[in-house]
Amino acid sequence: MSEQSAHQKYEFKRKLEMLRTKKGRGTELISLYIPHDKQISDITSQLKNEHGQAANIKSKLTRTNVQGAIESLLSRLRYLNRAPENGIVYFTGAVDVGANKTNMETIIVEPPEPIITYRYHCDSSFYLQPLEDMLREKKTYGLLVIDRREATVGLLVGKRIESYRHLTSTVPGKQRKGGQSAHRFQQLRLIAIHDFYKRIGDAASEVFLAIDHKDFEGVLIGGPSPTKEEFEAGEYLHHEIQKKIIGLFDAAYTDESGLSELVNAASERLSDLDLMVEKKMMQRFFGELVADSGKASYGIEQIRANLEVGAVDVLLISEDLRAEKDIIKCGSCDYATTSTHKWKPGETSEAPGNCPKCGSILEVVEKVDIVDELSEICDQMGTEVAFISTDFEEGSQLMNAFGGIAAILRYSTGI
Ligand code: ZN
Repeated sequence: MSEQSAHQKYEFKRKLEMLRTKKGRGTELISLYIPHDKQISDITSQLKNEHGQAANIKSKLTRTNVQGAIESLLSRLRYLNRAPENGIVYFTGAVDVGANKTNMETIIVEPPEPIITYRYHCDSSFYLQPLEDMLREKKTYGLLVIDRREATVGLLVGKRIESYRHLTSTVPGKQRKGGQSAHRFQQLRLIAIHDFYKRIGDAASEVFLAIDHKDFEGVLIGGPSPTKEEFEAGEYLHHEIQKKIIGLFDAAYTDESGLSELVNAASERLSDLDLMVEKKMMQRFFGELVADSGKASYGIEQIRANLEVGAVDVLLISEDLRAEKDIIKCGSCDYATTSTHKWKPGETSEAPGNCPKCGSILEVVEKVDIVDELSEICDQMGTEVAFISTDFEEGSQLMNAFGGIAAILRYSTGI
């Protein structure tokens, strides 16, 4: 995955986290999904119709809020000629902010994948399913289980196993019929096995070549020995697919149930592969740290300084990091400061208190997301950003011992 899309994925994930926390006090939050090719004028007339129907809502407060949300949408749509390439989603409504108060909010999402279906949805929470689906893992593995009598071709997409092709052979058993010479029988049998392997190779290659290139992680082959070894050694798969074989695994079944047996047998290897890249990065960081080379940097201010002089090779950010910098100013004098803190979705930060110089009340004039800010510097400097999960030891150390952020430097800066 490229740096850009890793950051976009992180952003999208965070936006969804935030949207999940929003609740209405009644059925008054509107989610509007607009595909690229939808006529805006059609939507406008439907919204006007919904506005009219909302007049029948019994609760006065809900009625006012729903109509207010629709009006806000209508005024936004006035400036939209056509939805962007992947479509656009508007989330609008009176969000419950506690203390018996609501706040009319609009959140606009341009999704990472195309919106297929137009939807208008009104409920006490936002309708997020189509976006949640986009977040789901799409990594794909080719699956093949094989013995000399039967083979099944399938795919593992995210966590889902799909069966595509089932083939059976006419390879004769080991016992020859009377009257046949042993040599001739053996020859025919080998030819039949070769033909069967070739059919399997062609069928599997056809299925695997259709996988979207960027999602295709590799091929797993299962079955009894020595069939699967023989099949691999014979290079019956298309050469591009042959290169992507991850490993051979024992499986007793070669029908559809063999596919899940194969996935189970390979599961450890798969999660290893997944984490391998992240693990290597973290090990590099700890290696520099232990060697005291000056090339391991941590602490937000040190990292920022190293980023700004272009000394960072890789910036390591924990997927669990949610941090914000408040820019704080005094309204009465020139005092200004910043405060960096962690946050959870739906949580508001503490008031900054009083000015140490003049005693007036301090104000947060701006909130800056730390991950956004640092990623932006990385973009400008051409620095690689790696998002690290907390599913392995070094990854959770990054979060817990280093505050979720660290950097490997190209050279020691002494910062
Ligand atoms: Zn002051």
